[in-house]
Amino acid sequence: MRFVVFVGLSSLVVGCATAPGPGGAPSGAPPRLSVCAGGGISNAPPTDGRGRITGFDPIAYVDGTALLRAPVNGCVSSGFGPRRGGAGSFHEGLDLYTGRPRTVVSGGDGVIEFIGSQRGYGRTVTIRHSRSVKTRYAHLSSYAGRLREGARIRQGEPIGMTGATGNATAVHLHYEILVRGRPINPISAGR
Ligand SMILES: [Zn+2]
Repeated sequence: MRFVVFVGLSSLVVGCATAPGPGGAPSGAPPRLSVCAGGGISNAPPTDGRGRITGFDPIAYVDGTALLRAPVNGCVSSGFGPRRGGAGSFHEGLDLYTGRPRTVVSGGDGVIEFIGSQRGYGRTVTIRHSRSVKTRYAHLSSYAGRLREGARIRQGEPIGMTGATGNATAVHLHYEILVRGRPINPISAGR
């Protein structure tokens, strides 16, 4: 593994309380996940008194597929579901703020289905994990060098760097888990 683990990085995540511990999840995936500090976050999942998501388990089993709930080391800047105050606005993914570009990894084993720009999503990668399960990674600043459509990829392998391409105001990952084309909540998926 060519990644340096996260020990000591938490102090660099401006505005985030993410403090992953040693070991556990694959590279790129924080074993713990926090909501970004500062408040005002729509759809924030339940947290303890320190901003950590309650009962967070880094791996979700979705329709028989093991997926990372957070495929980058960041903090939750927007949760899944209806946005507070927004009439009819439904957030189809999980936003993970990283402050500066950080490595995004594949949420699970699969095949790269799409690499390219999509309206609103900016630079995007879509991975098919099974007949029913896909993941989507949006607003990337760059793609990993060896990424090719149709190629196999393993959970934890890098796919690119976070960015703010498309409709984004800060450097973050917009992560979607899709089951038969319908987005589900990455935090609670498989529960
Ligand atoms: Zn989003």
